Amino acid sequence: MDARVIMDMQKKRFMMHKVIYMVFCFHRIAIQFVGQKDKFRDTVVLLTVIILCFGMDLFFNRCDFFESLKVLRHVRYTQCMLTSIMFVFFGIDSNSELMLLCLVMMFFLEFFLSLGIQDRERVWLFVLYIDLPIALMVLVRTIMHLNNAGIFLLFEVTVFLFVLSSVVLANANYMLDLYYRILKQEYDMGGLELKNQKVIDMQERMKDTNMLLNEQKNHLQYANRQIREANEEMVAQAEILHFISMSFEVPKISKQITDAIMRVKKLGFCAVYIRKNVYLNKHADYAVRTDITHLQEKLKDHMEPVYQNMMEQDVKEQVYYEDIREQFPFLKDVNIHSVYARLLECDGEIYGLFMLGDEREHLFDEKMSFYDAILAQYDIAISNARIYNEMQQMARKDGLTGINNRVYFNQLFKETVEQIKKTGGSMSVALFDIDKFKSVNDTYGHLAGDEVIKRIASVTERIIEQYDGFVCRYGGEEFVAVLPDRKLEEAQPVIEELFADLCAQVVQYNEWEIHMSVSVGLTAYPEICEDTDLLLKRADWCMYYAKEHGRHQINVDDGSIQRE
Ligand code: GH3
Ligand code: MG
Ligand code: MG
Repeated sequence: MDARVIMDMQKKRFMMHKVIYMVFCFHRIAIQFVGQKDKFRDTVVLLTVIILCFGMDLFFNRCDFFESLKVLRHVRYTQCMLTSIMFVFFGIDSNSELMLLCLVMMFFLEFFLSLGIQDRERVWLFVLYIDLPIALMVLVRTIMHLNNAGIFLLFEVTVFLFVLSSVVLANANYMLDLYYRILKQEYDMGGLELKNQKVIDMQERMKDTNMLLNEQKNHLQYANRQIREANEEMVAQAEILHFISMSFEVPKISKQITDAIMRVKKLGFCAVYIRKNVYLNKHADYAVRTDITHLQEKLKDHMEPVYQNMMEQDVKEQVYYEDIREQFPFLKDVNIHSVYARLLECDGEIYGLFMLGDEREHLFDEKMSFYDAILAQYDIAISNARIYNEMQQMARKDGLTGINNRVYFNQLFKETVEQIKKTGGSMSVALFDIDKFKSVNDTYGHLAGDEVIKRIASVTERIIEQYDGFVCRYGGEEFVAVLPDRKLEEAQPVIEELFADLCAQVVQYNEWEIHMSVSVGLTAYPEICEDTDLLLKRADWCMYYAKEHGRHQINVDDGSIQRE
């Protein structure tokens, strides 16, 4: 038999024992005080034994000694002996014989049951072990109270116990198996409940574990997203760095940067404004990226005022959320709930504005390091572009007048000729020299002469560039103006306008007012001069012709002049 099943059932019997003890005590007290009024000494002894039995149950139950079948067996044996003594010596005379007999039977049976199937072979020994003391007690009692009427009852009980134990023994197999099956059923029911409980516990634990796993999955997904974003940011930064190191063209870099930001951050808009004269740029630059309809034009129109406003208020960086509509009225019909604006600064000089916007709320509260890194690179790009343009300027421009020098003019002239030949167009070339300039130097000094040269250069550049041409200082006080895509008849009015303007100039130098005049030679490709290599030469011949024929005039080439 399964020892665990037996012990489990014995533990459950503890409750039944308690009820029986209680009934016994009430019964005994009732007899003592209400009924036959027995001997008080007997009542005390009987109650003491009951309390002792209860104490043993309680003690062994609490201390978990029932875990051991051996201890249980001894407890039952002791309880059986105690109640047997009570039955033999007190029960019969004090009206508690039936109650005591019940207890004796109960402990008697429980003792047998605690033997377990493995002890069946030695069960005879246990029969004697438990019956002999009772028989001896009966014998002692018989000797002590030969004349007692209860002697027959004692004999009967003793014989009954012998018979009972013999029957138990004889049917031990069957009874124990039967009892075991009943116990097992009960135990299985309990076990099933226990198993059910275990399954429920397990389910709970699995639920907890699942929740934990889900949480971990979320954490992992979040971490994964973070890594992916960081990776994309790094790739974008590397691309920008690469692009910046390859190019000095600020508009292209601005476009690259706004494209990269939009690709990585998927914002509502990203815009850059750079004021004019930052990297020798003549106009302000804009790079605006957005998918929102009409926002591009709105931003282009309003970035400069926003820049001016931030400059006036001395605000270098600002995030806008609830106050977007009042700060940027042009965004009032646009689904934008977060705006970031930052003035761009390079070498201690503020040069532009960077703006971001998105429909997500409170987007720019943290993590601006990506933008910081990109803008730091952008500052470097602007600085590089400025240095590059300044160096290029130095290489291309004339030191005194700031207009193109002859080296750069030759390059421009060559490119223009190639272009005109490719398109089959025409071009006009004017070459002019200041009249009697030596006398200016002689009369007012070289510095005054320089001022005159500068004035001639700036007026010439202004007028010729208005007509999409270019100029250069060709020699000391000689200048060339080229008008691409203009035939002679189209160029002539332009040169006449220039001539009139130059001759009307008055240079104020100290107390003197210096007037000037020029002599101009004008020729054109292809109608007058079909060889582009001769264009400058023919213009020069025409100019000399003008000098020789009274100065202060324009000599338009008719193809007749030949020199060398
Ligand atoms: P014209 O051309 O009408 O025949 O008379 P001109 O007096 O202008 O004669 P020319 O062209 O021979 O003289 C040019 C003078 O310009 C000579 C030179 O001293 C002066 N010159 C050339 N370059 C500069 C310059 O950069 N600054 C100043 N102040 N004078 C210059
Ligand atoms: Mg000259
Ligand atoms: Mg001259």
